[in-house]
Amino acid sequence: MARVNNWQLGREMSYWYPEARPQKQFAAVFDTNKCIACQTCTLACKTTWTSGKGQEYMLWNNVETKPYGSYPLAYDLKLLEMLNGQQWNGNKYEGQTIFESAPAGERVLGWRPEQQDYAYPNVGEDDCAGQVDHGQFLSLPHMNWFFYLARICNHCTYPACLASCPRGSIYKRPEDGIVLVDQGRCRGYQECVRGCPYKKVFFNPMTGTSEKCIACFPKIEQGIQPQCFVNCIGKIRLAGWISKPGQVRADNPIDYLVHIRKVALPLFPQFGLEPNVYYIPPIHAPVSFNKQLFGPGAGEAVKTYRNAMNDPDLAGLLCLFGSTEMVVSRFSRQGDSVTGFDERGSAVVRVPLREPVHVRPAVDTKNQLVRINCP
Ligand code: SF4
Ligand code: SF4
Repeated sequence: MARVNNWQLGREMSYWYPEARPQKQFAAVFDTNKCIACQTCTLACKTTWTSGKGQEYMLWNNVETKPYGSYPLAYDLKLLEMLNGQQWNGNKYEGQTIFESAPAGERVLGWRPEQQDYAYPNVGEDDCAGQVDHGQFLSLPHMNWFFYLARICNHCTYPACLASCPRGSIYKRPEDGIVLVDQGRCRGYQECVRGCPYKKVFFNPMTGTSEKCIACFPKIEQGIQPQCFVNCIGKIRLAGWISKPGQVRADNPIDYLVHIRKVALPLFPQFGLEPNVYYIPPIHAPVSFNKQLFGPGAGEAVKTYRNAMNDPDLAGLLCLFGSTEMVVSRFSRQGDSVTGFDERGSAVVRVPLREPVHVRPAVDTKNQLVRINCP
């Protein structure tokens, strides 16, 4: 085991391979407050990549309702229980990661789901915590809560799938940090399925190999965001690049949200993989629940997000979510307008901070007509 730096834990940790960060790391931010669980992302991925034989049960992208939803069944709860104590001291994690608590002779603390565990991808959908009494209506903030958690492979800095594979069939691309399974090398041992705590590798019984989200790399290579991003109805997603620790840039959208404003947080950082999909936590869920999912910064992240209307740079950047098909590598706000630039520095999108509102007169003398608002 090597010693590597995991900034999300605020400390070094043990990992099977030495630290080898890619030249660029693919990353994403998902705003949980905007997701409506329409599952368009799920279907966009499904029809693009997993419509073949042996892939029927696979959802490289899934959306589960928290607190009760999970796919595969109880993937998170099971590991949280296996990990036992998960102590944070401020921003430093003092518990053990899945690498540090691996049983003797194994590389990762993991478990492999049963077939049945994949049979209920929508379990717990729209189930809220707390009883909704007859006649009760929702007001904000409310005690009865749930939220939607969209999940893809995190293209982790320290992938457990990669560490678990005894054949070395899984690799992390040095040019963009995307994690892939070499279909020619894989022999279907399924150690990756066992090792990934997010359960984002799937075994294909028809090919006898494991498969996973490829971050739509043919699109990424052309500077275009993946399918689940550009099809997102709620405009909750932003794809981009996260800088190495110590090289953070304020004009990089992902850096700004993750490192500078700290409004977007990793999912289950305590597992130790340094996942690269970041979440803006739900503003109405209990802070203790948010902290379990997103780490100790969850309370502050919610406060920062709630204040976004008084914070033009943050508000402007949030307006860029879902506003272009292209990957935005740099952003800049000037006055009431926000511009996104691609890697070559060309402006690819410009959006206003506030949508202009036009109210047409009921009696329009110019056009000599009267408008009524009946359907
Ligand atoms: S398409 Fe977007 S809004 Fe719809 S479920 Fe997926 S992430 Fe949520
Ligand atoms: S989320 Fe799972 S499958 Fe994806 S890189 Fe991390 S460990 Fe591997």
